[in-house]
Amino acid sequence: MYTHATDAGWISRSHQAIAPFRLVRPASIEEALEAAAEENASFIAGGIDLVRRMRGGDRWQTLVDISGLSEMKVTSDEGDHLRIGALTSHWEIETGELIRKRLPNLQAAWRTIGNVRIRMAGTLGGNILAREAGYDGLVLLGVMGAELVFVTSSGEAVVIAGTGAPLPDRPALLTSVRIPISADTGLAFDRSLKPVVSVAVCKSGDTATVGVGCAFNSPRYSTIRQGEDAQSISSHFPDAIDNPMGGAAYRSRMVGVLAARMLAGGNGL
Ligand SMILES: Cc1cc2nc3c(=O)[nH]c(=O)nc-3n(C[C@H](O)[C@H](O)[C@H](O)COP(=O)(O)OP(=O)(O)OC[C@H]3O[C@@H](n4cnc5c(N)ncnc54)[C@H](O)[C@@H]3O)c2cc1C
Repeated sequence: MYTHATDAGWISRSHQAIAPFRLVRPASIEEALEAAAEENASFIAGGIDLVRRMRGGDRWQTLVDISGLSEMKVTSDEGDHLRIGALTSHWEIETGELIRKRLPNLQAAWRTIGNVRIRMAGTLGGNILAREAGYDGLVLLGVMGAELVFVTSSGEAVVIAGTGAPLPDRPALLTSVRIPISADTGLAFDRSLKPVVSVAVCKSGDTATVGVGCAFNSPRYSTIRQGEDAQSISSHFPDAIDNPMGGAAYRSRMVGVLAARMLAGGNGL
C-alpha cells in the first residue's frame, strides 16, 4: 500500500502511473526561475517527495530539475553564520566537516532524519519546501533563527525561520540557508515521539526557543526564560492536532515534558 504524509498524519493513496511531463535542466538559477514561471511547473531536487506525489496522482506539465546547479551545493563559513546550499543532501549535512566544526549539535540532530536512502537523495531545500508538518528541517532551523534565502524573479527574498513569516510562493527558489553561530548557543532535539510530536530547543543566554513539529499544520515556536517552569511552555501553543495517532491534550502535554527534559540537561544544551 502506498502512503503519503500529510498534516502530520498518514493516509493511503492509490499508486498510479506518473503522468507525462516535460523535463527542463537549467544551467543557471536564472534559467531555473524562467522555466519554473511557466504554468503548472515545479522544481525537482532529490525527487523524493515530488515523485511520491506524482505516483499519488499529482501532475505537473514541467519539472525543472535543479540538481545540477552546483552553486546551490556549497557550504561556506561566513564568520557569525554558516551558509548551507539548498541542494546539500541530508548525508552531506550529516558528514560535512565545516558543519561538524561550526554547528556540531545541528549535525547530530540532522543525522536522525529518515533512513540512509532518504539521507543520500533528499536535500535541505526539498525538506523545507515539501511543506510537510512532520518534517524536522524547519523545526530545527526555526529555533536557530536561520535565514532562508530565496531568489525570485524580482530579486532576493529572505525569510527568517521561526518567525511565522510565510514562505514565498512558487516559483521562488531556495538557494541557501544561513544559520547563526554563537558560542553560547546550545541545541537539542527529541523526536522519540514522532509522528505524534517532536521538540527542538535552542538555548542562548537565559532564553530558550522551543520548536514543535508534527503537532500542528506547520511547526510552531515559542520562547521561555531561565527560571520559568519549562513544562508551562505547553500553554504557549494553540490547540494541537487531535487524531487517532495522538490526542490534542497528550500532544500538548508532551511538548512541555520533552522541552523540560532537554532543558534539564539534554544533549547539546
Ligand atoms: C521514508 C521517508 C522517511 C523520511 N523521514 C524523514 C524524517 O525523519 N525527517 C524529516 O525531516 N524528513 C523525512 N523525510 C522527508 C525527506 O527529508 C524529504 O523527502 C526530502 O528532504 C525531500 O528532498 P528532495 O530533494 O527529494 O525534494 P523534492 O522531492 O525534489 O522536492 C520537494 C518539494 O520541494 C520543492 N523544492 C525542492 N528544492 C527546492 C528549492 N531549492 N527551492 C524551492 N523549492 C524546492 C519541490 O518543488 C517540491 O515541491 C522522509 C521521507 C521519506 C520518504
